[in-house]
Amino acid sequence: MKDVGPRALGHRYGPSMRALILYGPGDLRLAEIPTPEPGQGEIVVAVDAALTCATDAKMLSRGTHPSLGPLPAPFGHEGAGTVVAIGHGAHGISVGDAAVIANSAPCGRCEWCVRGREGLCEQITYLTGMFAEFIRVPAAIVAHNVMVRPPDLAPELAALAEPVACGVRAATRSAARAGESVVVLGGGLQGQVLCAVLARRGCQVILCDPHLEHRASARRMGAWRVDDAPRDAAGLARVLAQTPGGRGAHATFAAVGDARVWESAVALTRPGGEVNFHGGPAPDDVLRLPASRLHYEEITLQASYHHTPTAIRQAVAMIADEPELFASLLGPEIGLEEVADALVSGGPKRIVRPRHAPTGPA
Ligand SMILES: [Zn+2]
Ligand SMILES: [Zn+2]
Repeated sequence: MKDVGPRALGHRYGPSMRALILYGPGDLRLAEIPTPEPGQGEIVVAVDAALTCATDAKMLSRGTHPSLGPLPAPFGHEGAGTVVAIGHGAHGISVGDAAVIANSAPCGRCEWCVRGREGLCEQITYLTGMFAEFIRVPAAIVAHNVMVRPPDLAPELAALAEPVACGVRAATRSAARAGESVVVLGGGLQGQVLCAVLARRGCQVILCDPHLEHRASARRMGAWRVDDAPRDAAGLARVLAQTPGGRGAHATFAAVGDARVWESAVALTRPGGEVNFHGGPAPDDVLRLPASRLHYEEITLQASYHHTPTAIRQAVAMIADEPELFASLLGPEIGLEEVADALVSGGPKRIVRPRHAPTGPA
């Protein structure tokens, strides 16, 4: 490995850097903090692109999430960049490499990891802090969930690996087969990814969302049909009428963290079918379901949270396969100072360039 210094790569790698720090609910501040140095097994990456995510918006308004450390906490969990420093004992990646960095790594040894449920790992190492010029990547993530980026894959597309992996993981849990009917409620990023994965499996996907641009996007991702969100009995009847025999979908995904939508998902599922709850509800959200239908119609309820190392790799391959399609899910570019407003206003994923005005080699 040739020892290329950070300066030779054109990155400003001075003693301090700009980073967004979450102090509490609604309190996100742009701060000047010390530039990280890699410890044992760690690497430091210059963030070339980060992405805003609906989960960031939730973290900002609630001030809490399983993946956030104690506040004040570094913020932003989807990003990709260039390795600028390597700690002792970090293997498999070199200074100058473009990297895909997952926002977590499971321990690989606990009860849940052994059963392939790595998203539930109780010793999971999470990573936030992508909304910064540089990020230190913990040793566990370097060892299990950092990959050299495929050539020609833009950093903003590499940064999509994390959210796409969550959708891939949810679709993987489903038994829906080619030719079967799948309803996806919610056309945000997760709904779009579910649509892409399940359409490529040969499922007839009906995606429901109130926004016309989400429906148009779902068409591009491979939806068989698109419709408005079913908000009442008439809406549910309208969507049911599009499923085989009007009996409901073989699989229904609630790609929104809202208990009312989850109840609609159960109502749209046929006897013997399955429902996947995918989307983080508020801590006090309560679900009311028709118990007799669940029993007499053998409806399977499942949920999916987070991703696995396998799903991350499948996501990278999928994005690299159809880069233009996935690029269509991204909105405009912004700088660090615009992230808080973008999260509050919602809308498409923004591409965040932490070094908006690069100062070049010092
Ligand atoms: Zn995310
Ligand atoms: Zn584990």
